Amino acid sequence: MQIIRSIRSMQAAARKIAGSGKTIGLVPTMGYLHRGHQSLIVRAAKLADVVIASVFVNPSQFGPGEDFKTYPRDEKGDIARIAEALGKKKARTAIVFAPKAIDIYPDDFETWVTVEKLSQTLEGKARPGHFRGVTTIVAKLFNITRPDVVVFGLKDYQQAMVLSRMTRDLGYPIKFVIAPTVREKDGLAMSSRNAYLDDLGRWEATCLYYSLRTAREMVRSGVADTRVLLREMKAVIKATCPSANVDYIAFTDFKTLKPVKTVTTGTICSLAVRVHGVRLIDNLKLA
Ligand code: AMP
Repeated sequence: MQIIRSIRSMQAAARKIAGSGKTIGLVPTMGYLHRGHQSLIVRAAKLADVVIASVFVNPSQFGPGEDFKTYPRDEKGDIARIAEALGKKKARTAIVFAPKAIDIYPDDFETWVTVEKLSQTLEGKARPGHFRGVTTIVAKLFNITRPDVVVFGLKDYQQAMVLSRMTRDLGYPIKFVIAPTVREKDGLAMSSRNAYLDDLGRWEATCLYYSLRTAREMVRSGVADTRVLLREMKAVIKATCPSANVDYIAFTDFKTLKPVKTVTTGTICSLAVRVHGVRLIDNLKLA
């Protein structure tokens, strides 16, 4: 596996791969990799000849007072997990692109990419400027690595939708793949931020998935009114994690992200909850 830190070297390597007729599968990450990330890497390896995993904690997608400084980092562990996911043969040709923040954002950096409307709701509303940072870094990664395929996780559902729109709108010739959420045995969606939780917090963090599963069960038994679902989800969260702070619970159309009052085919429920001070997000398709 090759570790590349400079933008120029990454561009040269990508040109070389393309020149030899091979395809590139890109998996952008912020590191501290877990099985969720590994599943994306495995998927990329199935769809492309060479896998590039980027590891970059992107400062521009964190708001003031958010966890940029404390975000967990473990480059050695990340490299080991990428190798583990790929197996010996694919790992030999894989590239980890781990640029420096100063190279990605030089002091006079002033060009941003924004997906205007889709970025304004849910996570965008709760974290102003977040998606501008995400779309800008991912556009830069696309330009630097020239992938044929990219794989993102459904765990960050809105992010996947925003980036898929950006990919289409800007005309990138890239196949855009969204992979399912990988969960712990008790249903908690894997996340690098789970590392912030202590034992009790880790246990109570199941409140997100329990509430989503409750909503899905209710939908399956005939309830379609989102007000009823919302009430029940809040009750489940309160019962599982009494100190939880619900940031939002939203019922939207999967493709348009527009809010819905009644659950129909394609309705997805997304939520953000603070568990013992740690902000967690999750989502589930309800029908
Ligand atoms: P992050 O490192 O958190 O920025 O995530 C990098 C990529 O991994 C994004 O496309 C995420 O949606 C995806 N991802 C994060 N957690 C999971 C998970 N539990 N299952 C599947 N994909 C995930």
